Amino acid sequence: MNISKHTPLVSEPFPRPQRWGDEEIALLTQTMRQQSLFYWKGPQTEALYPAFRAHYPLKHLFPCSSGTASVHIAFAALRLKPGDEVIVPAITDMGSVIGILHQQLVPVFADIDPQTFNIDPVSVRAAITPKTRAILAVHLCGNACDMAALQAIAREHHLALVEDAAQAWGTSYQGTYVGLMGDLGCWSFNDFKHLSCGDGGMVGTNRDDLGAHLSKWGDKCYNRITGIRNPDELAYNYRMSEPLSAICVAQLGKHDAIIAPRVRNGDLLTRLLAEAPGVRPQVVRPGDVHTYYNYIFRLKLFEMDCRRTQFATALQAEGVNAHDGYLPDPVYRYDLFQNHNFYAGTWPIRDFGLTTMDYTKVVCPVAETFLKDCIHLPFNEAMSEDYITKVAFAITTVAQRYAQ
Ligand SMILES: *Cc1c(COP(=O)(O)O)cnc(C)c1O
Repeated sequence: MNISKHTPLVSEPFPRPQRWGDEEIALLTQTMRQQSLFYWKGPQTEALYPAFRAHYPLKHLFPCSSGTASVHIAFAALRLKPGDEVIVPAITDMGSVIGILHQQLVPVFADIDPQTFNIDPVSVRAAITPKTRAILAVHLCGNACDMAALQAIAREHHLALVEDAAQAWGTSYQGTYVGLMGDLGCWSFNDFKHLSCGDGGMVGTNRDDLGAHLSKWGDKCYNRITGIRNPDELAYNYRMSEPLSAICVAQLGKHDAIIAPRVRNGDLLTRLLAEAPGVRPQVVRPGDVHTYYNYIFRLKLFEMDCRRTQFATALQAEGVNAHDGYLPDPVYRYDLFQNHNFYAGTWPIRDFGLTTMDYTKVVCPVAETFLKDCIHLPFNEAMSEDYITKVAFAITTVAQRYAQ
């Protein structure tokens, strides 16, 4: 509550969209009249495949219970061996690395690019060893990774390229949606993503060798097609259920209506911030579409007469829903990595000599600096151009106040 007399530059409350409505209710009502809520051959899940493919035309799909599950299934499908290495960005959601660790693989952290905030191909190259088998491209905040560079590295070193598009619904790289360019693409329908059923995910591929059995990795290794129940590998139960599929179908019907205002608003904010001294928005490659899962900008604190906290507090006083920072730390600084505490205080692959990785020695300087100088604004499709214009004016006013 603002108790001062000061009238904030942004005086209206933070806009919030009504994310679910009649479309979801209608499909859920249908679902509740079904005999079964099981995904296999369930009408809602059967409808989910074409609804997803209308935007992301992948040959093989498996709707699953979360984005984390989708990444896990992707790495299980690649059948990498314990101790094999996967290069991942230092800044991402835990969901990007949980499945990698569970498959007894070694996440190797690469630094981010200071302008795009995405995994830096130069750092990826430097991280390659004879044990590297895959790269995980995370399209952070809805900004596309440098796919041409990552694809070139993957080709050159015979690596799989997996795309984590959890934050990047509708994001495109040079005219193609992200998630469609790697060996496997992963999406999340969790509550915070552009599209949501509360919790859900999707994994897909065009590769027949990976796709033919994609579903077994999320369905206890049962073969639903032949009906033969004889699991030949260790898999999980990461199934989607019918009510969630119904909500996802409705959400996918609103895909473009949800994405378009975010793109318009995010790009508008970046244009309007061009004159804000010391403010460095995320750089979007010409020809790409950034869909603004959230809006993050960096401060040139060395050119400013304030600390980041002061800047964020000043923005809040002007009615801007701003937070200093994004994640507290790069992923490798989390306790479980620092203590190598992956399985009850042990890390079997290291204990058995399959890796010598020591996460206490990992430093990604760009990621660390980024997390110290970034400001994070929640973003959504309910914001109007007028609201964004006021937010931009407030940020510019605060930036000018602290400009040296
Ligand atoms: C949200 C997210 C995930 C995990 O998705 P869940 O559905 O929450 O499991 C994975 N990667 C990234 C980049 C994410 O933002």
